Amino acid sequence: MKLHFLGVRGSTPAPGAEFTRWGGHTSCVAVLPDGLSAPPLVLDAGTGIRNLAPAPFRGVIALSHLHWDHVQGLPFSRAVDHPEASLELVVPGPEPLELLTRAFSPPHFPIEPQGLRGAVSVTSSGGSRNEESFVLRQAEVTHKGGITVGTRVECDGVAVVYLPDHAPQLGSSAAEELCRGADLIVHDGQFLPEEQALADDYGHATITDAVAFAERCGVARLLLTHHAPNRTDDQLDAVAKEWPDVVFAREGDTVTV
Ligand SMILES: [Zn+2]
Ligand SMILES: [Zn+2]
Repeated sequence: MKLHFLGVRGSTPAPGAEFTRWGGHTSCVAVLPDGLSAPPLVLDAGTGIRNLAPAPFRGVIALSHLHWDHVQGLPFSRAVDHPEASLELVVPGPEPLELLTRAFSPPHFPIEPQGLRGAVSVTSSGGSRNEESFVLRQAEVTHKGGITVGTRVECDGVAVVYLPDHAPQLGSSAAEELCRGADLIVHDGQFLPEEQALADDYGHATITDAVAFAERCGVARLLLTHHAPNRTDDQLDAVAKEWPDVVFAREGDTVTV
């Protein structure tokens, strides 16, 4: 399985000369099982989804939650808003279409989700589902401001768990269960250890929280994403050097699991 990191920022995009090397787009990861030429699964639809190859997207877009940094790119992807696209949007919470339409409808936005040009269906996340080329398992995890799910993806004999917004220090047994036996955890690493109070307030993790969580889960390979939007390239370089056993996601990177 390959993971394409299309957006690695949290909260808001980070444009500007100081953010070009690590990337300024918000959360989005395309998942490519071995042997396929186009991703059948995209995790989150932050502005990074604009980096998706422009061929019509056909597959599942699983949203971890509905905060802006995880949905705002959706109507701006040429692959998604395409007459030949066919997508299932998997949204946390009951009445998923109504929830999504609250964010995508006038006066907040010119069109509703069904106004995208391809075939669009909207379903509720949670539980386990088997697709042709992957298995998806989702469960609610600890964050703030509405329901957030963690997502475990299994294919090609490996498992990855995606937790871009997660505060394990505030308690989350469902996330630990999702991570059991996984090969890689892609985790919230928005805050530095000295920013613990902010992390707790906003329902995010510090790097030390993420490392402790991965250790608790017995998963050796940890990749941090959802970098703070004010963390410059030089600062991220320094942070990455301080934590040599952790991989820091960079926009445009492909990670093989
Ligand atoms: Zn976020
Ligand atoms: Zn969030």
